Amino acid sequence: MADIIQLLPDHVANQIAAGEVVQRPASVVKELLENAIDAGASQIKLIVKDAGKTLIQVIDDGKGMSATDARLSFERHATSKIRTAEDLFSLHTKGFRGEALASIAAIAHVELKTKQDQDELGTQITIEGSEVVSQDLTVTPKGTAIAVKNLFFNIPARRNFLKSNTVELRHIIDEFHRVALVHHSIAFIMYHNGSELFNLPTSNYRQRIVNVFGGKTNEKLVPVNEATEVLKISGFVGKPQFAKKSRTEQFFFVNDRFIKSAYLNHAINSAFEGLVKDGSHPSYFLNLQVDPKSIDINIHPTKTEIKFDDEHTLYAILRSSVKHSLGQFNIAPVLDFESDANLETPYDFKNKTAAMPHVEVDRSFNPFLDEQVSKGSSSSGYKKEPVGQWESLYVGLESKGTRVNQSFSELQLESDDELQSMFDNEPSETASRSTYQFQNKYIISAIKSGMLIVDQNRAHQRILYEGLLKSMTIKEATSQQLLFPLELHFSITETNILKQLKEDLEHTGFIFSEFTEDKISITGVPVNVPHSEVSIILEQLISDVEQEVPDSNFSAVDLLAKSMAKSLAIKSGQSLTFMEQEHLVNSLFACKEPNMSPANRIAFITMGVEELDKKFM
Ligand code: ADP
Ligand code: MG
Repeated sequence: MADIIQLLPDHVANQIAAGEVVQRPASVVKELLENAIDAGASQIKLIVKDAGKTLIQVIDDGKGMSATDARLSFERHATSKIRTAEDLFSLHTKGFRGEALASIAAIAHVELKTKQDQDELGTQITIEGSEVVSQDLTVTPKGTAIAVKNLFFNIPARRNFLKSNTVELRHIIDEFHRVALVHHSIAFIMYHNGSELFNLPTSNYRQRIVNVFGGKTNEKLVPVNEATEVLKISGFVGKPQFAKKSRTEQFFFVNDRFIKSAYLNHAINSAFEGLVKDGSHPSYFLNLQVDPKSIDINIHPTKTEIKFDDEHTLYAILRSSVKHSLGQFNIAPVLDFESDANLETPYDFKNKTAAMPHVEVDRSFNPFLDEQVSKGSSSSGYKKEPVGQWESLYVGLESKGTRVNQSFSELQLESDDELQSMFDNEPSETASRSTYQFQNKYIISAIKSGMLIVDQNRAHQRILYEGLLKSMTIKEATSQQLLFPLELHFSITETNILKQLKEDLEHTGFIFSEFTEDKISITGVPVNVPHSEVSIILEQLISDVEQEVPDSNFSAVDLLAKSMAKSLAIKSGQSLTFMEQEHLVNSLFACKEPNMSPANRIAFITMGVEELDKKFM
């Protein structure tokens, strides 16, 4: 049989390699920024159009390339950064695989202009799908400018696979952050579609973090510094009370390279244990310096995962130094911060004068009264239950007194015909107590054919969700005016997300008096939304938009309704009065789709008498 093995032509090999290196526009941004840093640039400009789908350009003032090097740089495995395999263990550059430019040039139109300081003229090369179209002498400043146009022009499948511009830009900004944060002595500017998104002058690390994430970040940072033989840690963690719903402010850099490590992340989480709420993530911006010999960076083409020789020790040191910093901060917060009196004050109390504490004593309270009675009527007995959420039960109900107050017998469930007749026709006996709360989580109720078990959190999410959707659709939400405007601060990226949803937020009842890059003032909130919840709602919303990776078919209104319902709904663990329980069940069955929570989880189950009977056999 004839020999059948052939060497792949270079352009095919490059395209295959590109599949690993270039997943999306953001990967190109990362590679180009890293090359500029390796070239010793002190200023780097990133210009992006249409979330990188049309243009990604990086201009640096680094050392540039000779004409021969410029041509060679597009060859595969062509690198100036390592010469021998041993060099892999003493890396001081970002790149070393010599694949990036070859890969990018295989799948895009690339224009390179570069000049070394000592040269009179520079070199200009145009290359399309691995083919050199032209190479000329050119007048250009010292440094390198690379423009990458029409990414994936020759791989339509990959191009179609790209997400919406919002999502792709989000990825680009993430990569930009990862490079710009740790290289704070380099100045960065980023433009998207002609407008400046970031302008980061040379600065120290703290200032860089603040410039990236917004002015209010400064007060949130707690410094972490530790030097041991194996590991040097420097950087910051966020104060626990500023922990976020999303993980967008979590950064590990190892020898100035952004890395992902679930293991080290765990070390931080364990240092924060007991200080942050479940589901919140502490911010951190930590630089780890280790001996290059003790890590292996070459385990992943994008180099974001690395292997440490002695992970356990790193874990222990990291955990204890973060703990130490947090401890110091608790004892002496003024040591490290210029404290801002406003910062520690909850929004509700800002600018208000202090009033004498008011003690409410119910003189008619009789502890020997039947508990049920005292619970049922709110005028007698201590208000044991937190009643704050009680009002929000009404949010989204058509109108009090109509469907809401129907007894079970009149409820219609469209999804399940059998259920229609399952409720007792005679409410008389059950009227006194038709529901029971179990484990502060489920509401149990007797129905004609057996038992109904409602998940209180999911049910309430459904009720709120339908109500919110409705008020957004008919654009008729009622707002409650705030006595003092609420001032909230977000990073630029976060404000951009909120800006997209501003109109829909207004339809839920929010009123904004100011909406600038790093400050949002709110003068009205939806009825029944407590002030204290507002920042949590908006944070949750930002995090949901970021995580749900909204696509072209994503509906802002729907996401907003889901997110707000999630924030506002009664949680499991919250005890409810009898009235609240009953109201919740009634309201659930007044919904269009009571069966499921907005996130499509089952909201209630039923158990028939026969099923129960069987269990007793
Ligand atoms: P690597 O960075 O892994 O070496 P690349 O394909 O990214 O591989 O780049 C190939 C080579 O081209 C680099 O080793 C470097 O010598 C040169 N090069 C790339 N970008 C620049 C730049 N912005 N300035 C100067 N030289 C560059
Ligand atoms: Mg490189």
